[in-house]
Amino acid sequence: MEEHQEELATIEAIDSGAVYTLALKTHVGMSIQTFRYFAGWCDKIQGSTIPINQARPNRNLTFTKKEPIGVCAIVIPWNYPLMMLAWKTAACLAAGNTVVLKPAQVTPLTALKFAELAARAGIPKGVVNILPGSGALVGQRLSDHPDVRKLGFTGSTEVGKHIMKSCAVSNVKKVSLELGGKSPLIIFSDCDMDKAVRMGMSSVFFNKGENCIAAGRLFVEDSIHDHFVKRVVEEVKKMKVGDPLDRSTDHGPQNHKAHLDKLVDFCQAGIKEGATLICGGNQVQRPGFFFEPTLFTDVQDHMFIAKEESFGPIMIISSFKGGDVDDVLRRANATEFGLASGVFTRDISKALYVSEKLNAGTVFVNTYNKTDVASPFGGFKQSGFGKDLGQDALNEYLRTKAVTIEY
Ligand code: NAD
Repeated sequence: MEEHQEELATIEAIDSGAVYTLALKTHVGMSIQTFRYFAGWCDKIQGSTIPINQARPNRNLTFTKKEPIGVCAIVIPWNYPLMMLAWKTAACLAAGNTVVLKPAQVTPLTALKFAELAARAGIPKGVVNILPGSGALVGQRLSDHPDVRKLGFTGSTEVGKHIMKSCAVSNVKKVSLELGGKSPLIIFSDCDMDKAVRMGMSSVFFNKGENCIAAGRLFVEDSIHDHFVKRVVEEVKKMKVGDPLDRSTDHGPQNHKAHLDKLVDFCQAGIKEGATLICGGNQVQRPGFFFEPTLFTDVQDHMFIAKEESFGPIMIISSFKGGDVDDVLRRANATEFGLASGVFTRDISKALYVSEKLNAGTVFVNTYNKTDVASPFGGFKQSGFGKDLGQDALNEYLRTKAVTIEY
């Protein structure tokens, strides 16, 4: 993959619409880091010895072994086609399993290139299998298959629930689900404003908003609200929308037509419910699935756009009253999702209190999108269960056997 990183990034940019520079650094770069990280775990998978106390004199030895599960299926979405493959496949292979992976129907190309590279790198035949196709056919068959013992899924909450049911009914497969999100980002007036603006932009517009941990809603303290909005508008105006293969482009096209249409409808719903559209809200008038970076303010908690995931470049800002930390926490947690969250403040006590109370699998403090191969990634509530990355991810692809010997 290292030898072919430019080729992989070009394919990824063409297939997914990610700008080339991001595809090289994140889509491909983090995929390589992920394989290096999990390669380090291959010879460090250990069980433990456990004292049991059933008889006197105690002549028992109980130990646990971590075993591979067997055939694992992996089903992934289209937003980071290669990186989603890497996050799950690397952990799965390091644990000693074989994998059958179904890429999203609209973005199969880097997965197919990966299969070619895996064969050339000497991975034995049959260990890595890429099976492109539709969710209804191939994805469903993998969920139902009696020889598949584990299914790792990343995608929407709706499909995740359906898959979980199929996995249970067929043969009680082990399942892990990385699902949708509507992650809150709370910005207090005592923040570092430059950083909050920079990271706030990244929290929404990174990978043209097709980012599961994207901040779905920003809560900005009332005393800095207008200034923050002004700064964001200045930044949005600087964004260069265009050809993802052009090295100077900041913002490429959305992944596919149906998704673009969904974003148009999402913005219409916001306008209809009375949110203020500050900029954007429309398809860009040029060939391709381009959508304007968009900003809404005056968003009320009950509105559709405050509750639903857009999965696009749409910043949604609500203000909150200074001095009432618990009230903004209550509003931030009032969602069925729990994937990620963030807070900007210079007050360490407030940062720690808020990170303890935010009901999400990841909390970013004074940063955003800082995902690392060694740190577990995954949601709470209807954002799913099970982790990608870090040691926790390895355990998703292992089973524990306890052996007791009497001597
Ligand atoms: P999706 O759920 O529509 O599709 C995901 C995958 O499931 C695709 O490969 C699809 O073909 C397959 N699929 C569809 N129906 C199936 C079925 N009946 N049986 C088996 N497989 C089936 O999601 P999407 O539109 O590709 O991706 C967007 C969603 O993914 C968003 O909600 C986003 O938040 C989520 N996502 C989550 C994470 C995370 O880590 N939590 C990461 C990326 C994306």
